[in-house]
Amino acid sequence: MSALAVATGSINLGQGFPDTDGPASLLQSAADAILAGRGNQYPPGPGIPELRAAVAGHRSRHYGLSYDPDTEVLITAGATEAIAATLLGLLNPGDEVIALEPYYDSYAAGIAMAGARRVPVTLHPPGFTLDVDALRAAVTPATRALLINSPHNPTGAVLSRAELTAIAAVAIDHDLVVITDEVYEHLVYDDAEHIPLATLPGMRERTVSISSAGKTFSVTGWKIGWVLAAPPLLAAVRSAKQFLTYVNGGPFQYAVAEALDTLGPGFYTGLRDSHQDRRDLLAAGLTAAGFPVYVPKGTYFITADVSHLGVDGLTFCRSLPRRCGVVAIPASVFYDNKTAGASLVRFAFCKRTPVLQDAVGRLRSAFQEGERHRGE
Ligand code: PMP
Repeated sequence: MSALAVATGSINLGQGFPDTDGPASLLQSAADAILAGRGNQYPPGPGIPELRAAVAGHRSRHYGLSYDPDTEVLITAGATEAIAATLLGLLNPGDEVIALEPYYDSYAAGIAMAGARRVPVTLHPPGFTLDVDALRAAVTPATRALLINSPHNPTGAVLSRAELTAIAAVAIDHDLVVITDEVYEHLVYDDAEHIPLATLPGMRERTVSISSAGKTFSVTGWKIGWVLAAPPLLAAVRSAKQFLTYVNGGPFQYAVAEALDTLGPGFYTGLRDSHQDRRDLLAAGLTAAGFPVYVPKGTYFITADVSHLGVDGLTFCRSLPRRCGVVAIPASVFYDNKTAGASLVRFAFCKRTPVLQDAVGRLRSAFQEGERHRGE
């Protein structure tokens, strides 16, 4: 879809990357690190000590969780490598992993690389809330892990304390490891709150928590991520990571450490507020263009329904660039159960306001016009 966006000169609301870079101080410290020779050669395998300490400090300040930077924190090549290394390090062939569907596409690949089997539990509109009975029913003797993503890509759902409590109960009852992908931890809106699963009683020792700098600091190209877990779990992840990339992004590690240590609460509320405003702009524009939308509580993404147009999401997304110069992603790519997501389409709103205004204008004129003609 990104290639189609380039080929047709469309506004790319498909792939989730910001069109502005992170804070100037962060960019400057990466440039300074390169020129000062910090991190240009292989950094330590687990990540530079400054970043491991900064990641632990951030978890402690934001959520009251305490991790030992030496034995419980690992720096990775983005959350993507963190997820792959966790799956490769913890799973044996034949193990089953339950994941909330729709899911981020690297989950299926990572589970397959580990020789394991994915078992989806589907989140349904309008709320995309967890069906706890379906989760319990999905557990078998082969289940080894739950793979949870909140705030959730693509639906924008944010798991509530009640849902997390239910997940914790299933994990404890069946002695499962839980892998939590929290890359959108600072992108939660309205009255939603991001609650790391590891804060729930009995969960810290069985949870592998994953996040990254990409979304929080608007530097998705830097690929600096991290894992927090109790020592036996972290050791398994580290063993796999060692033979994936070994290390990456030395100078960027210094810059991210500094950002985590120095950017205060104002940075995080500013990030949230600016994304919430853009979410509202896109949601209002899609609604005005006639699309029912599921307003997200978190992430970069809005899901809209296209069934009123008499097409499925894939057909819609293929025609959208030529029809009005906008690119979106059919949500069916995030499902095993293709019928569940067939009419859903994901739009990213992590773009500059004028870009979103332009996109909304294009959608409104294409679809309001279309509807008018159809009504005539
Ligand atoms: N998990 C989810 C849910 C994501 O949406 C993304 C990025 N699109 C990632 C992981 C990957 O993060 P990173 O770029 O840090 O590898």
